[in-house]
Amino acid sequence: MSSQWIFLAGEFVKKEDAVVSVYDHGFLYGDGVFEGIRVYSGNVFKLDEHLQRLYESAQSIMLNIPYDKEELEQIIVNTIRKNELETAYIRVVVSRGPGNLGLDPASCSQPKVIVIAEALTLFPKELYQRGLRLGSVSTRRNRPDVLSPQVKSLNYLNNILVKLEANQAGVDEALMLNDQGYVTEGSADNIFIIKNNTIFTPPVYLGALEGITRNAIIDLAKTNGYVMKESPFTRHDVYVADEVFLTGTAVEVIAVVEVDGRKINNGEPGNITNHLLSEFRKIVTIDGVACYNATQNKAIV
Ligand code: PMP
Repeated sequence: MSSQWIFLAGEFVKKEDAVVSVYDHGFLYGDGVFEGIRVYSGNVFKLDEHLQRLYESAQSIMLNIPYDKEELEQIIVNTIRKNELETAYIRVVVSRGPGNLGLDPASCSQPKVIVIAEALTLFPKELYQRGLRLGSVSTRRNRPDVLSPQVKSLNYLNNILVKLEANQAGVDEALMLNDQGYVTEGSADNIFIIKNNTIFTPPVYLGALEGITRNAIIDLAKTNGYVMKESPFTRHDVYVADEVFLTGTAVEVIAVVEVDGRKINNGEPGNITNHLLSEFRKIVTIDGVACYNATQNKAIV
């Protein structure tokens, strides 16, 4: 088997050699930003949108990414080709870089850019057929005026606390509320509910990451003639919904069939959820940046 190549601070290194300094503030303080991106049949899905979000996260925390967007796009595409991948998960990390032990980023002069591309097998079909069990947790989504959920930072402790609670409760995924009790999102995915054929998702200002899959689903819902609303809702609205589903780069679109022990409708993935998932899978190979020539399967140079 050929080895996996990681892009690390300007060069490709083998996975075993891809190490960062213990003085890197990404490691010491979670000071940095990242993106998770998916490649479908040689097409990087919504790469422009992911890059835009990465650069906005960096701008927000005054982190200078040492490449412009076109250069980073090329680095990502080259990492995919170097690893000869067509279906993959990409992780882009920009850390503040090594500094001294104090938290002041002023001691870090060289932000580090890392791109990891891994082969991805789709999540098991059974999971989509069965649907997920969700549990609401006591940990609240961090407030946008404290640490904005729009900053996709390396500090994921809020989400990790939530995931720990979900694990303790024995459910598949957590339902996170904001400090006012409104539904925000899961630990790493956005939430949608459907009631009387209208699709709802919380506005991001309540405290949810503006997910790229979320936005793709909003667009698809509209183009497929559904009524789509971004408006606040509570746990009660989730309990009595006709359908509930989550979206995210990793899970794509996945049904939720139980929330806090309440069965959603008949406890099976709903028709609109299934329809949106199939529409989503139709666009993923065309709505992106191509790494390979689709017919010849060769790298585009
Ligand atoms: N919310 C959070 C907290 C996440 O980490 C993610 C995963 N990036 C999402 C939502 C889904 O966003 P996307 O569709 O862009 O993957």
